[in-house]
Amino acid sequence: MPHALVSGGVSNVSFSFRGNNPVREAMHSVFLYHAIAAGMDLGIVNAGMLAVYEDIPAELRDAVEDVILNRRSDATERLVDLADRYKGEGGKREAATDPEWRQWAVEKRLEYALVKGIDAHVVADTEEARLQAQRPLDVIEGPLMDGMNVVGDLFGAGKMFLPQVVKSARVMKKSVAHLVPFIEAEQGDDTPAKGKIVMATVKGDVHDIGKNIVGVVLQCNNFDVTDLGVMVPAEKILNTAQDIGADLIGLSGLITPSLDEMVNVAGEMERRGLDLPLLIGGATTSPAHTSVKIDPSYQGPVVYVKDASRSVGVAQTLLAGEGRDSFVQRVAREHDDRRRRHAGKRVQAPQLSLAEARGNRAALDWEAYQPPRPNSLGVTTLADYPLAELVDYIDWMPFFNAWEFAGRFPELLDDPVIGESARSLFADAQTMLQQIVAEGWLTARGVFGLFPAASADDDILLYTDESRAKTLATLYTLRQQRAKRSDLANDCLADFVAPAGSGVADYLGAFAVTAGVGIDEHIARFEAAHDDYSAILLKALADRLAEAFAERLHERVRKEFWGYAATEALLNEELIAESYRGIRPAPGYPACPDHTEKATLWELLDVAHTAQMQLTESFAMLPTAAVSGWYFAHPDAHYFAVGKLGRDQVEDYARRKGWSFAEAERWLAPNLGYTANAA
Ligand code: SAH
Repeated sequence: MPHALVSGGVSNVSFSFRGNNPVREAMHSVFLYHAIAAGMDLGIVNAGMLAVYEDIPAELRDAVEDVILNRRSDATERLVDLADRYKGEGGKREAATDPEWRQWAVEKRLEYALVKGIDAHVVADTEEARLQAQRPLDVIEGPLMDGMNVVGDLFGAGKMFLPQVVKSARVMKKSVAHLVPFIEAEQGDDTPAKGKIVMATVKGDVHDIGKNIVGVVLQCNNFDVTDLGVMVPAEKILNTAQDIGADLIGLSGLITPSLDEMVNVAGEMERRGLDLPLLIGGATTSPAHTSVKIDPSYQGPVVYVKDASRSVGVAQTLLAGEGRDSFVQRVAREHDDRRRRHAGKRVQAPQLSLAEARGNRAALDWEAYQPPRPNSLGVTTLADYPLAELVDYIDWMPFFNAWEFAGRFPELLDDPVIGESARSLFADAQTMLQQIVAEGWLTARGVFGLFPAASADDDILLYTDESRAKTLATLYTLRQQRAKRSDLANDCLADFVAPAGSGVADYLGAFAVTAGVGIDEHIARFEAAHDDYSAILLKALADRLAEAFAERLHERVRKEFWGYAATEALLNEELIAESYRGIRPAPGYPACPDHTEKATLWELLDVAHTAQMQLTESFAMLPTAAVSGWYFAHPDAHYFAVGKLGRDQVEDYARRKGWSFAEAERWLAPNLGYTANAA
């Protein structure tokens, strides 16, 4: 940092902004920040100053720094341009300009900042409150708890939403972080006993946005949360729980192999003779799986928690003296009911044999079809894909879903109930997205390949070249076996590729992309600043950029590299609605539920080296913000769900993949249409 420039830079510029305005405040704070950093003794050094610095919108902060640190020749013009935008925001940016609440008593200011999620002054206010309090702990037990209670009440009443709660938690954490050294120095650690919960994303899985949100919400409600992170083996989860005397364990997972791992953890809890409640959450989990597979493995209470909003109620009830038993009994009854219903269902769903299902495959007219020949056969690597190109391809709805907003984008921004909160989240997302792109926080990397291909029943053969003499790889796909209406086929992805004997030269593509390279250092930076809000926001945005990359690359493949849709011109809404020709099914999704097929894709494209992405033992992708799949070009190719499999297909699949029957049952567990009794 060019400290020597601090004074020189500033003396060259004079701004005349009238009244209280964010740009002037920013100038002031940034100057002080750098002055402090430069070691000048201004006699006004306090930690609150640094928090103010952090709270300045990034683009404004950068522009001001450009001026103060003399970083670019056009810095002044750029700041003046920006200033026009920020001048008008005085009223909106309460954190910077609302003088009224800043004049209240310090307890009220802290409470207000918590409820509003404003972290700009929290360290200074906390310090002021600490100096006035008898003990530092009084600050937590007084204004902080009062504020968090208001937050909890508003959240419980549906008047406040997750992003705001996570922002409030950020204020809380920064305040507590300031107090902790003082509390420890006092040594009188008589912090009131809180419920202790150990949380983890299970072994083999890397997804943690939902888990992190739950963790923050529980912390807001005075739970002592030990978050073990992602890819956590059962042993570590249970050792930790036993070591710290946890009251609850919470498991999370997103991909289907995690379901099995949760059963494993439950079994291990039983083996250790534990009886503390086990909470189950995450996108792939369900009440049915929890009741049918997890609950029978463990005597203690097993509770499925649908989303972060429910987690507090469930956790509190499980720890409360009264009401706990009746809750646990009700949950147990629900497990029984679901198991009974589940057992009944199996009898009702008629299944075809695999041979019958193959007999009812989609009858594509191969004689009338000329497959397009790709312009670029083989593997293409995209080492550092420009993020700026991806921004317009973002599908925002899943972003809002991650924060538990329902509805449609962009309509939800105007919703009378959630609109305000959604807009605020969206604005924060836009600001961070600009920073991600401008400052290169993340790097996008991808690889794709286009290959000569043919189907052979339910397998897809990829060839080394167009002589089609040598097989490069074999993809194994699964077929629907449920009895269908007479006009509907029993679908299988292989049916969308011309059969080997047909004399029709067809092709298939594969791709893997990530936008998560480099994310860890930024997550670490936010976590060190007690800023879960920004950490979660960044992860959610990285996921969006990865999906946008998948969308953009698929478009380019159709238009350029495969080239069968050279004139396609679709709006982003139309891309999201999949109004184009062809599909990109992803291993692990309903048309190809076997995650292990990613191993073939990885080998085929040498993904570990070309895109430097890895697979975990459950075939989750690393970096986490990643997408992979196959490209099918046939106009009739479509998504479907394989659904429940008969034993005959599981046997057939095991044979094709060179697996034991037990292995096949393990990897296909979520799709078994019969009661497995292997192993
Ligand atoms: N626009 C969304 C795209 C992800 S969901 C986003 O940004 O999150 C749609 C993707 O999921 C598809 O492109 C495909 O890769 C996968 N998918 C959806 N349904 C599928 C199915 N039935 N079988 C296989 N893959 C499927």
